[in-house]
Amino acid sequence: MTFEGAVPFMVNATAGTTVLGAFDPIEEIADICEKYNLWLHVDACWGGAALMSDRHKHLLKGIHRVNSVAWNPHKMLMVSLQCSAFLVRDKTSLLQRCHSAQASYLFQQDKFYDVSYDTGDKSVQCSRKPDAFKFWLMWKALGTRELEQRVDRALAMARHLAQAIKKREGFTLLMEPEYANVCFWYVPPSMRSLPAGPELWEKLHTVAPVVKERMMKKGSLMVGYQAHHGQPNFFRMVVISPQVSREDLDFVLDEIHSLGKDL
Ligand SMILES: *Cc1c(COP(=O)(O)O)cnc(C)c1O
Repeated sequence: MTFEGAVPFMVNATAGTTVLGAFDPIEEIADICEKYNLWLHVDACWGGAALMSDRHKHLLKGIHRVNSVAWNPHKMLMVSLQCSAFLVRDKTSLLQRCHSAQASYLFQQDKFYDVSYDTGDKSVQCSRKPDAFKFWLMWKALGTRELEQRVDRALAMARHLAQAIKKREGFTLLMEPEYANVCFWYVPPSMRSLPAGPELWEKLHTVAPVVKERMMKKGSLMVGYQAHHGQPNFFRMVVISPQVSREDLDFVLDEIHSLGKDL
């Protein structure tokens, strides 16, 4: 199919969307891309960390078949900002061919060593920090097992929070979490008897911003909120710190209720 005569040449799938933490089915998308000879890129900036976990890596099943991947170890793995990897399977110096400025005063080609190690000419920027080193050093220091536990723990905490939300009156999950994103509404008692419909949505939309303002002014919590696809504002809780406990997550729900119950 073409739109206005345009022919697609690449597909961008997402492994771990920013808001909901949802994963596209990479294997199925790769089948289509192979059939039509399309470049398949996966934005795994947020979800790529699941690859560290035996239990959760199935979320990115098929990722070995794609042409390129973006991954931010500075998110769930908590490498200090910033550390963003762009991985390409290409072996034809694609990045060099795209970005090289071939400045005659830099990156001489007649040096005594293999000049393919000169990475500076492959990126848009020239002078830059070796961000990959931070990840390498952290991986060496903590070990693969510790990084895996970080991911497993974050996802276990997300599941705990989702279960706690299901048990509480006035709290409603948007969807069962696929990853570490737990998205939910808090419905104050005054709105609980309203039938599902535009009047309730309109009132509910105003709740999260007020609760957020109150939690920030009190200094007790920082939880993001947003609207999405026409739905009223909801809270989006993402936990990655290994120091967060189940009690802390229960406190989040207690605090939201205590700050919003009069609305
Ligand atoms: C965070 C994120 C990005 C970009 O993150 P930077 O930290 O700006 O590199 C891209 N895609 C997704 C899905 C993300 O969650």
